[in-house]
Amino acid sequence: MGTAVCRPLKVCSASTPEVSSVLRLANRERIPVVTRGSGTGLSGGSVPVAGCIVLCLVDMNRILELDTKNLTLMAEPGVLTQRIFDTADAAGLFYPPDPGSMKISTIGGNVAENAGGLRGLKYGVTRNYVMGLEVVLPDSSVVWLGNKCVKDVAGYNLRDIFIGSEGTLGVVTKVLLKLLPKPAARQTLLATYASMDAAAETVSAIIAEKIIPCTLEFLDQRTLRCVEAHASVGLPVEAEALLLIETDGHPDAVADEAARIEAICSRHHAIAVRRAATTEEAVRLATARRSAFSALARMRPTTILEDATVPRSELANMIRFINEAAKRHNVTVATFGHFGDGNLHPTFLTDERDADEMHRVELAMREIFDHTFSLGGTITGEHGVGLAKKAFLPQQLGDASLNLLKAIKRTLDPHGLMNPGKIFDLETPAATGTQSHDA
Ligand SMILES: Cc1cc2nc3c(=O)[nH]c(=O)nc-3n(C[C@H](O)[C@H](O)[C@H](O)COP(=O)(O)OP(=O)(O)OC[C@H]3O[C@@H](n4cnc5c(N)ncnc54)[C@H](O)[C@@H]3O)c2cc1C
Repeated sequence: MGTAVCRPLKVCSASTPEVSSVLRLANRERIPVVTRGSGTGLSGGSVPVAGCIVLCLVDMNRILELDTKNLTLMAEPGVLTQRIFDTADAAGLFYPPDPGSMKISTIGGNVAENAGGLRGLKYGVTRNYVMGLEVVLPDSSVVWLGNKCVKDVAGYNLRDIFIGSEGTLGVVTKVLLKLLPKPAARQTLLATYASMDAAAETVSAIIAEKIIPCTLEFLDQRTLRCVEAHASVGLPVEAEALLLIETDGHPDAVADEAARIEAICSRHHAIAVRRAATTEEAVRLATARRSAFSALARMRPTTILEDATVPRSELANMIRFINEAAKRHNVTVATFGHFGDGNLHPTFLTDERDADEMHRVELAMREIFDHTFSLGGTITGEHGVGLAKKAFLPQQLGDASLNLLKAIKRTLDPHGLMNPGKIFDLETPAATGTQSHDA
């Protein structure tokens, strides 16, 4: 007799009944299940645990319905986010959530992480577009949560518990999404700054003037230089900070907002403000911004991308602190992110083979999270907790809230089989990923 650690087993399911069968078997044999979309998650959510079934859903990739009367779209979880956008777009409709990874991420992964994107400031995140979910529960039963009604307050809102649950409560097998009419016009602006503070002040001023652009993105100089080296779109690499701003809506409103934004940028000491002359140029600029993470990842062997989010009024303070912490611990950091949402991505460029440097990165990260909490912020604005941030969650939530999360988990997944060890630890055999076997 002995204890062996088994290798994960990959299973691809193509339908809800198949997913249900896999969970029935897993429940009977007490095997952990790690659900997987495209594996682009940035907090380690789909990393397998020993002895688990990796339940891969990329074959569940059908768009089941586009309802142009109710402005909804029903999709299987393996459909790529870009395809959801393109399908809506072709019908004159609009699916706003646009994670930087939208060409490769799945809608199921987006729901499980409650993914955000560049348009989050005006349009919100994935949660704001989920009207219904089909979920296979750990005991293999199938539930449908939600409907096409714009209003529905019958009972607890169970659908929302599954959004952002990172595969720890069940498997999402269908998603009913809300669509919007496509905005008639958009305008993209690029503002460059000699100081970070001036860029941050511009953001506060735009919001204070009651303008909500759909995109308000920020790149610091290191990111800017990496993106330009990678994408060659003519970004001004001498600038300390860059804002990418997009406004959309009725053509008159867009023209008015763009003019007012331009004036605000100039008043707050922008070195230059440039408007995209064509749709192609606007797309090129947005694509360059989306490539920030990949561009930075080319610089050093290991890239650690964080997701600290603070109230917008604290952005300049937070960025200053990130740079000071990196300097204090002699590590390299580049910061970009969704400035309008207060969602920053301080990205450490390091090498995991260098234990001393990794230790210094951890010290800097710990300080950054402590500072985030002191400003009323959160450890994650969109990437989820997964494995990467679970050590910091107790400090953010406190005992009472964390215990509530664990109570929900125990109710829905009493044997702790769904994505064990992610978000928080539960004392169950599955949480350790260790199975007992005769050797
Ligand atoms: C270059 C790049 C840019 C990115 N930009 C953004 C961004 O702008 N905004 C943002 O929010 N994220 C971003 N991400 C992170 C990532 O793409 C998102 O978290 C995305 O939602 C993950 O989708 P996925 O299909 O890859 O899911 P996976 O990585 O496979 O899974 C993520 C989590 O969801 C669970 N899961 C997946 N499918 C299901 C399902 N059907 N049912 C239940 N649980 C499920 C998994 O168990 C895991 O915990 C980026 C990633 C990269 C690599």
